[in-house]
Amino acid sequence: MRSHYCGQLDETLVDQTVTLCGWVHRRRDHGGVIFLDMRDRDGIAQVVVDPDTADAFATADRARSEFVLRISGRVRLRPEGTQNPKMPTGMVEVLAKEVEVLNTAATPPFQLDEHGKVGEDVRLKYRYIDLRRPEMIEKLRLRSRISHHVRAFLEGQGFLDIETPILTRATPEGARDYLVPSRTHPGSFFALPQSPQLFKQLLMVSGFDRYYQIAKCFRDEDLRADRQPEFTQIDIEASFVEEEDIMGIAESMIRGLFQDVLNVELPAFPRMTWAEAMHRYGSDKPDLRIPLTLVDVDDLMQQVDFKVFSGPASAADGRVAALKVAGGASMSRKVIDDYTKFVGIYGAKGLAWIKVNERAKGLEGLQSPIVKFMENVVEELLDRVGAQDGDIVFFGADKASVVNEALGALRVKLGEDLNLYTSDWAPLWVVDFPMFEADDKGALSPLHHPFTSPSCSPEELKADPAAALSRAYDMVLNGTELGGGSIRIHDQQMQSTVLEILGIGEEEAREKFGFLLDALHYGAPPHGGLAFGLDRLVMLMSGARTIREVIAFPKTQSASCPMTEAPGEVSLEQLRELNIRLRQKAKAEGQE
Ligand code: ASP
Repeated sequence: MRSHYCGQLDETLVDQTVTLCGWVHRRRDHGGVIFLDMRDRDGIAQVVVDPDTADAFATADRARSEFVLRISGRVRLRPEGTQNPKMPTGMVEVLAKEVEVLNTAATPPFQLDEHGKVGEDVRLKYRYIDLRRPEMIEKLRLRSRISHHVRAFLEGQGFLDIETPILTRATPEGARDYLVPSRTHPGSFFALPQSPQLFKQLLMVSGFDRYYQIAKCFRDEDLRADRQPEFTQIDIEASFVEEEDIMGIAESMIRGLFQDVLNVELPAFPRMTWAEAMHRYGSDKPDLRIPLTLVDVDDLMQQVDFKVFSGPASAADGRVAALKVAGGASMSRKVIDDYTKFVGIYGAKGLAWIKVNERAKGLEGLQSPIVKFMENVVEELLDRVGAQDGDIVFFGADKASVVNEALGALRVKLGEDLNLYTSDWAPLWVVDFPMFEADDKGALSPLHHPFTSPSCSPEELKADPAAALSRAYDMVLNGTELGGGSIRIHDQQMQSTVLEILGIGEEEAREKFGFLLDALHYGAPPHGGLAFGLDRLVMLMSGARTIREVIAFPKTQSASCPMTEAPGEVSLEQLRELNIRLRQKAKAEGQE
């Protein structure tokens, strides 16, 4: 139907006749001449309809925003002074000969360039219209280029694209499962995969050696900011590999991707242990674009006569850390109060601070509600954080986990608020994760997943599980975890030990993933892999603010879709077929 996309028009086509198909982006009536901005996925072209072409003019005259038109005409240079160098097609226009309405359109619920005036729920309800916006098209186009690059790279490295089931059993990645009732097995349920983890491991047992998949994953997580119940992973697994192999492949994939798609040469990927990341940045995904670091001051604070500080400084699970912000002494009381509220979100009970007005004046030169409690150590403290005149030093004192979270988040917020970024891209690998984390009651759960190999023998693991490190690695970019993975357990005895430590009894293990345990008996090779979050990768590369912006049809933060109204009710008939009776419905109908 068309000869060119609207966005393709340029000076090389002058005097040629073209046929465009698309939507009326804007229609302007200029003293008897009608201007139509025609839009398709490639861009916008200006079409001029003259009254001389009477039929075309009459049709253009009744065209409205978002009508679907087919237009033929001659490309010509725009008259001097009306050119628009900001538009890719801004040097030319089409003088229409024929205008055909392929379809009319009701008045859209919002003008594309006024999408900011409506709430996201309206945009999601009419997503098909929202997706007409050039910025949205751009993001999805970038997404397509990214997955194309990833596929080409991995295929080139000998990885095979193999699909794994969507209707399956629970996969233990730490979230709640989405369940699907089975009609043919009354009372039984499939689970949607939280990731293809177990299947990719089984493919290694089969000998496929190198697997990848751009896979949908499903996790019914509590509403945390910027998560989607279904999301996409670039999932990778390989056999006869060690950490270096997987990290090497992953790093060259991402490096090439940035080069190819964004023309960005990423800097080196430093390696940081998990312990160091927590210590210096309060986070296992530090944003290294921000130069601020947390500095330990436990030893000093043990010497002060102020329980709020000396308590956590002396406690085994406590921590007192300082965060110096150069030039921060000019912060107003209101700004400090706002930061105090901010750290409160992370459980901090307060935010102590010292403003360094003039160090040469000693205590006189400091301004702080707490300095009177720590006169004996203040000089050493300021030396340690390298405080100079004009700086502010913040303090966190609590359980180490609270201090890390609160000061870690404050560090990122300060970086953002004060625009402290020292580079555009800061990638790194975080390695040497602990094998397990303990909850308040001391129960252990895997930091990655229960199939991750520890760095020690089963005996050592058993002797001190809390101290064991794992062979896991995470790739972090600008404070976002892009991907993570590990070398897996391929040895039955090691797997049993880990499950035992996790308190997963033999029976439960057999019932949940007996098939994997069986497979380990039948010649499982050493193997490992990782998975990238594709949505987050596209978000970072496109500069989008949320992952919803880079997913064509995302769910809301309450895990529903305003457009399809999913999840929706089903008929009693369907429920009966599935052998399901709903508690509330049954009650309402007096069946229970
Ligand atoms: N299955 C893991 C996850 O979804 C990734 C991996 O270990 O390869 O986080």
